[in-house]
Amino acid sequence: MHGDEPAAPVALLAACQQGVFDDRATWFLVPMINPTGFSRHQRDNATGIDLNRDYLSLKAPEVRSHVAWLRRQPRFDLAVCLHEDWEAVGFYHYELSRQIDPGFSRQIRATAAEYLPIEAGEVIDGRPVDEPGIIRPESDPALREHWPEAIYLFRHHSDHCLTFETPSPQAMPDRIAANVAALSTACRAYLDLS
Ligand SMILES: [Zn+2]
Repeated sequence: MHGDEPAAPVALLAACQQGVFDDRATWFLVPMINPTGFSRHQRDNATGIDLNRDYLSLKAPEVRSHVAWLRRQPRFDLAVCLHEDWEAVGFYHYELSRQIDPGFSRQIRATAAEYLPIEAGEVIDGRPVDEPGIIRPESDPALREHWPEAIYLFRHHSDHCLTFETPSPQAMPDRIAANVAALSTACRAYLDLS
């Protein structure tokens, strides 16, 4: 999604190689929405659009084609978006859920903490935390002028959307490992519930 957040697509590939996506579920993987930004190591796409603010206006062709694809898919039990934060020194994640189970997100946080510090502070990236390292932001799409992917997914495709944020200043292998482990924990916890 953001071309200067390389641990995300690399971690998704590693998760595939490590068998995170097993045969107990059907998986829909979108490894790279912003290839022109990725090749330029920049957040926006080549024409300067932040794709993760475009899911309401649908200006960018990448987002339009992603949305067109999504409309052909069933609802998802769980949706996870992988991002990085260059201002953070620790892992944190966002949770949008219509049925909050605090234990679920705490398991993810504990897993990530084996590889990275958990981002400290009452406010992270301008948003108040719900508990350390976990942000449950305003989820009413009507109150959002610019929709990120997660808001779109929560509005149209899933009752449970997570966004992982790994800290860019930390070592790449740790960011990848934390993402894979957190993804694995989220998927396993979800499959054990259902
Ligand atoms: Zn991002």
